[in-house]
Amino acid sequence: MKGICILGATGSIGVSTLDVVARHSDKYKVIALTANTNIDVLYEQCIVHTPEYVVVVNEEKAELFKQKIKNSTVSDIKVMSGAKSLEVVSTLDNVDSVMAAIVGAAGLLSSLAAAKAGKTVLLANKESLVMSGDIFMQAVRESGAKLLPIDSEHNAIFQCMPAGYVAGNDVKEARRILLTASGGPFRETPVEELHDVTVAQAVAHPKWSMGRKISVDSATMMNKGLELIEACLLFNMSPDDIQVVIHKQSIIHSMVDYVDGTVLAQMGNPDMRVPIAHAMAWPDRFESGVEPLNIFDVKQMDFAEPSLERFPCLRLAYEAIKAGGIMPTVLNAANEIAVDEFLNERIKFTDISVVIEQCMSNFSADKADSLEHILDADKQARDQSYKIIKEMS
Ligand code: NAD
Ligand code: MG
Repeated sequence: MKGICILGATGSIGVSTLDVVARHSDKYKVIALTANTNIDVLYEQCIVHTPEYVVVVNEEKAELFKQKIKNSTVSDIKVMSGAKSLEVVSTLDNVDSVMAAIVGAAGLLSSLAAAKAGKTVLLANKESLVMSGDIFMQAVRESGAKLLPIDSEHNAIFQCMPAGYVAGNDVKEARRILLTASGGPFRETPVEELHDVTVAQAVAHPKWSMGRKISVDSATMMNKGLELIEACLLFNMSPDDIQVVIHKQSIIHSMVDYVDGTVLAQMGNPDMRVPIAHAMAWPDRFESGVEPLNIFDVKQMDFAEPSLERFPCLRLAYEAIKAGGIMPTVLNAANEIAVDEFLNERIKFTDISVVIEQCMSNFSADKADSLEHILDADKQARDQSYKIIKEMS
């Protein structure tokens, strides 16, 4: 029986994880669940999964949550609040696996704490890896933590690696990664119309149902940009050896091209419970609840090269990883601010890449040699981005 802590339990990945957990209650026991503000969903999850601990980051909501459980069947759950508590629950002795599913930089310290504590880290929170890069991978190596990718593409690549593969290691025989992308909702929209796309259009992903931030990232293809950086770190690859491929059917979730000409692909219905169940059962397999893939329904699979003119965010991500140092941290921070401002209808969709590019031009790619340095670069890039946005309006 393994103890699991789910960071970001109330989000899209958190909910899918609990769905898989419920199918395997003989193998997994929920020790801790965390949320930022959504105490109604968290309460329902507590009734079903009876965790020992809960973190509600928002202090006021945490007080409301305590009132809510007072006279319930789960009144003995220990409720904590504040961001620091995320690190407490991700390193508890009876926690074996940590699902890192907080969105954005807010997930960095708790993901890193789990890595440092030698936990099995099920990593969905790509932003934390993009920000902290080598520091994160070093923490994994030093503690002996197991790092299993949840992002569907990275989980697919991991599955296409040789048996016994350990994240971060080099596979000499793997010459290229083919990182697939759906292309998002604006794959074919005329470029001149992108200026006027609405929030509702941007978050309506054609293939995946996800949180709002990653849905916008998919529409700009910054999601693929962050994933490119994530793949460089997880699989010790150069960005020049990673080809982004638009595959609109989202049946192949990525491929590895080997020196002998073999290309291995992982396929499945586009449902995050597939990679979640894979990582939770690893190195075995168990059921995810996902319908079997009906290959006859697929009929056709298309592959195309993405246009960097249509998707400038993807170009910026290539530039950031090639520059190295703190540049991926700056890219990520500027993107988080720009996406948030777009979601709040304060900037246009096409302004997102403009803000990021301007922000990056204000930084040099200094070596990211400590966590303090990274957090400082993150903060400075956020301040810069707000300033750029203010000057735009
Ligand atoms: P979401 O918005 O649905 O959920 C986010 C979760 O994070 C919620 O539980 C929320 O309470 C929590 N959270 C938000 N802000 C917080 C803060 N400041 N402090 C603490 N907790 C906070 O997001 P999601 O779609 O589930 O994505 C989560 C992560 O997984 C992201 O990094 C995303 O890139 C990655 N991911 C998601 C998918 C997907 O299909 N949804 C696929 C691949 C990777
Ligand atoms: Mg992905």
